[in-house]
Amino acid sequence: MGKRYLVTGGAGFIGSNFIIYLLTKYENCIVINLDKLTYAGCLENLAAIKDSPRYQFYKGDIADKELVGKILAGGIDVIVNFAAESHVDRSIHDPGIFVKTNVLGTQVLLDGALKFGIKKFVQISTDEVYGSLGASGYFREDMPLCPNSPYSASKAAADLLVHAYRHTFGLNVNITRCSNNYGPYQFPEKLIPLMITNALEDLPLPVYGDGLNVRDWLHVKDHCAAIDCVIENGRPGEVYNIGGNNEKTNLEIVKTILRILGKNENLIKFVKDRPGHDRRYAIDAGKIMKELGWMPEYSFEQGIQSTIEWYIKNEAWWKRIKSGEYKEYYQKMYNDL
Ligand code: NAD
Repeated sequence: MGKRYLVTGGAGFIGSNFIIYLLTKYENCIVINLDKLTYAGCLENLAAIKDSPRYQFYKGDIADKELVGKILAGGIDVIVNFAAESHVDRSIHDPGIFVKTNVLGTQVLLDGALKFGIKKFVQISTDEVYGSLGASGYFREDMPLCPNSPYSASKAAADLLVHAYRHTFGLNVNITRCSNNYGPYQFPEKLIPLMITNALEDLPLPVYGDGLNVRDWLHVKDHCAAIDCVIENGRPGEVYNIGGNNEKTNLEIVKTILRILGKNENLIKFVKDRPGHDRRYAIDAGKIMKELGWMPEYSFEQGIQSTIEWYIKNEAWWKRIKSGEYKEYYQKMYNDL
């Protein structure tokens, strides 16, 4: 018999990629997806597997203790917690919901994990909990947490709770801290899909500040494989950084997208910087590579090319999203464009 996974936030970008990854890789596994279907959740991402007898969906909140208890009582081996409010810009405008979902929601899941004797709890965290780097150096797992945005502060708070449930109650936990992801099904508010879809529509490409903020990019499928390695072989209580050694400035990303699409750079429009915008993130992923043998497979050129092709082929998916609630958000964010 394969493992029974509870994947939270499985209708989001990384969660949906991860569910498809699991169901494809493990013939006998069962996946239960608990997702609140916020603006970022999209069941269409899971169209390919929605009728599988090995997949089950619950619409609900990870902070709903009763529902979480009911699901866990049905028998779960591993909880993988992706569910989160995930967008830094939104956390600047409305921090409260970030604390509710990212902190209190995680605590409800941890309590459930303890009560129902769950064998493994994996918290999907982010490199943003480490704060910002100068021109040199890399985030390592033993660095102090120094989050700067309400989003990263809520993720860091969740990490500390996960650590405490290990230390105090002996829960078998892992925390993964990954760099920026890109790939299919990413919501168009994030840098890469925003730039691809705007370029496809010949709309201005809004670049914050001087465009020289640096992020370390990883293809979502490489992230999924890394999480799977941690579930299978991660040492109890350990934190694993995940990254592709792929540092790029935002401007480099935007110019690469325009070059591949054959569009003019005069679409780039510099806009007022995000408040408190972290300058540079870069991950040292040596620990997961050495200990668990994980290596990324996608080169950035290969990954960005196939991602752009995906957005071209799946125009109906992003056009529907961009015409809904998102339109109002976009107008509020970029009203000077
Ligand atoms: P996303 O915003 O695309 O998806 C989040 C999902 O969580 C959505 O389906 C949403 O409906 C669901 N959700 C939100 N609140 C919920 C709640 N209270 N209960 C149940 N479901 C809820 O996010 P993503 O980019 O896929 O990120 C997933 C996780 O990975 C997050 O925890 C994020 O912090 C982390 N992460 C993301 C990146 C990245 O580059 N996207 C990098 C590192 C880590």
